[in-house]
Amino acid sequence: MAGAYIHIPFCEHICYYCDFNKVFIEGQPVDDYVDMLIREFQLVMAEHPDEPIETIYVGGGTPTTLSPAQLQRLLDGIHQYLPFKGGEFTFEANPNDLQDTAKLQVLKDNGVNRLSIGVQSFNDQILKKIGRIHRSADVYRAIDNARQVGFENISIDLIFRLPDQSEEDFMDSLTKALALDLPHYSTYSLILERKTIFYNLMRQGKLRLPCKTLKRICIKRRLIVSKRRV
Ligand code: SF4
Repeated sequence: MAGAYIHIPFCEHICYYCDFNKVFIEGQPVDDYVDMLIREFQLVMAEHPDEPIETIYVGGGTPTTLSPAQLQRLLDGIHQYLPFKGGEFTFEANPNDLQDTAKLQVLKDNGVNRLSIGVQSFNDQILKKIGRIHRSADVYRAIDNARQVGFENISIDLIFRLPDQSEEDFMDSLTKALALDLPHYSTYSLILERKTIFYNLMRQGKLRLPCKTLKRICIKRRLIVSKRRV
C-alpha cells in the first residue's frame, strides 16, 4: 500500500519543546514552497505511474498556517497529480488556525476526512509555559467549528511530563479530552531534544520536570484509555 506524506514546515510560533523540521513562517516563500511541492508530486508520480495512493497525511510544521488560497492550491495539486482514490486523508492543524470555518471548509470541500489537532494540554498556564499560542477555549471552538463543517474523524494530541505538571493536571487534561468524545487520542511524553529551548533551559538547571513516576503512570493509563476507546 502506498501513502503520501506531505510536509508543510511553517509555524506561526516556535514551541519550546519542538525539534520537528519547521521554520517561523514570517518572510518565508510559502507560495513558492507550495509550487515546488506540486512539482515534486509530478516528478515522483512520473517514476511510479501505476502506483495508487491509498492514504495522504499532510503534517508539519503546521499545515494550517497556509492561507485558504494556499490550501486550495495545494489541494488542487494533490488531486491533479496524486492518484488518490479516497482513503484516509489527514491534515494536522493547530487550534488557533481553526477559530473560524474558512480553512476547515477548504479542507472539507477538497476531500480531507481526518483532522489531527495539536492540543497538548487543557491548562492555559501549561500551554503558555511550553510556548503554545492557543488556549483551551480555542480548542473547544476549533472542535465545534470542525464538527459544524462536517468533520467527524478528529484526533487530538496531548503531552505529559511537562514542566511543573502534576499527575492531577495531566489527568484533568485527559478527562477534558475524553469528554469531547473523539474517535482517537494520542498522548506523548515530553522528550528533551537538543537545540530546543527546553533543552537549553535544562542544561542551565532552569527546567523543573515532574518525576519519572508521572511518566510511568501516564504510560500505564494510556494503555487503559486505548482499550476503552477500542
Ligand atoms: S510543536 Fe508544532 S506548532 Fe509548535 S513549533 Fe513544533 S511544529 Fe510548530
